[in-house]
Amino acid sequence: MHKLQLYNSLSNSIETFVPLDEKNVRMYVCGPTVYASPHIGNARPLVIFDILLRVLRKIYDGNVTYVRNITDVDDKINAAARERNISIQEITDAVIAEFHTNSKKLNLLPATVEPRATLHIAEMLNIIGKLIENGFAYEAEGHVLFRVKKMPKYGALSKINVDDMIAGSRVEIAPYKEDPLDFVLWKPSNEGTPSWDSDFGSGRPGWHIECSAMSHKYLGEQFDIHAGGQDLMFPHHENELAQNFGAFGCTMAKYWIHNNMLVVNGQKMSKSFGNVVALDKILQEYDGEIIRYVLLSSHYQKILNWTNQALYQAKQGLDRLYGALRIATADIGNICECCSDSTAATCISDGDVTSSPIIDALCNNLNTPLALHNLHLMADEIFKMSEQECNRDRINGLCASMKNAASLLGLLWKSSHEWFQAGFKKISENEISQLIEDRAIAKMTDNFERADEIREQLLAYGVIIEDSKEGTMWKIG
Ligand SMILES: [Zn+2]
Repeated sequence: MHKLQLYNSLSNSIETFVPLDEKNVRMYVCGPTVYASPHIGNARPLVIFDILLRVLRKIYDGNVTYVRNITDVDDKINAAARERNISIQEITDAVIAEFHTNSKKLNLLPATVEPRATLHIAEMLNIIGKLIENGFAYEAEGHVLFRVKKMPKYGALSKINVDDMIAGSRVEIAPYKEDPLDFVLWKPSNEGTPSWDSDFGSGRPGWHIECSAMSHKYLGEQFDIHAGGQDLMFPHHENELAQNFGAFGCTMAKYWIHNNMLVVNGQKMSKSFGNVVALDKILQEYDGEIIRYVLLSSHYQKILNWTNQALYQAKQGLDRLYGALRIATADIGNICECCSDSTAATCISDGDVTSSPIIDALCNNLNTPLALHNLHLMADEIFKMSEQECNRDRINGLCASMKNAASLLGLLWKSSHEWFQAGFKKISENEISQLIEDRAIAKMTDNFERADEIREQLLAYGVIIEDSKEGTMWKIG
């Protein structure tokens, strides 16, 4: 059996993954808060933890329970509904539908359970009751708050220093709190926003208690992996961990895995910078497989720099891999189903694939860049075998191996014919000329940043420009 090594944020070290129960490996990932269309940064954890799910399924023969929740009660949802003058349900339904469409385009495996917060209020109230009973929570003016001082080693996950937080006023001070650090488990709802009856008065849950309740219901008091974006480590995950300790007396999850952030052209993505890349929009322009490839091109613990060049390179990388598959399928009528729609007995079994360098790379703390590199080495081998006019069965076998190995990365799920038919982002000659003209103007006015941006933009379409004395020439690369 393969040994999976993972970086555990709780211990700050790489550990060998040992599940609590090999027959039911359990993973919880914090899902989207459905108030607005997501951006490309939101897609990174979805793709990374989809890879982790695929690896776990491979190692543990599919015995994995994967829970990814949907947060459909939140102040941001209420505010978005008010702003757009539509009902809360209209917003959440629309964003959830879009999330599912995008998930398919990105080839994400469905979660075993995708619980919605609003359908688990009773479970949340149950845990809140336990926390009060155990002295970890208290009622105050229609609120229920978690008593942070009662939690031993609060901050152990995020390595946050509690004293620094108070000094830096990073906590909300309210007269009903025993301590500024205490956080909300239940609070009164504003008029016109969703509310539920409870022993503490009508109100709604805090965000953190949602994940404690939903993970407990589907995965139990303790489970194997809790994952999410690094930005969720504090306060969200720290508070979930504290809640579960207070209610059940144990550490919620053995392994806490966090992915790093995504920046756009080296800059933090922010509305104020005007550089937010909407996932929906980018998926209209590019095949989901290209987006997925870019998201896998950096190690999950490193910052990922999103650029047009990265999109272009991903397209080239996929062209190459599908090109290798095409060689194996070109003039063979009867090949294995991994390679085309027709079937035959030439497919290499899964047994060969588990020993492939792809799973080795992924077991090494999800080293996706190395796995991609190794996939290209397999393509190299196919090209070489084709040049040497090797035995067709061997080429077909390697092709099947490559396609199976790629499925661990969620790549190469199409036929090569489908891939090359789909083409790439299209651009007309008029548009190219216009952009080249805009670039010349930008250069004349010393706006080199804009000029570089246009060059990158063209590159994303596969258009390479070259400046010469005669002017700017272009060609499709
Ligand atoms: Zn969560």
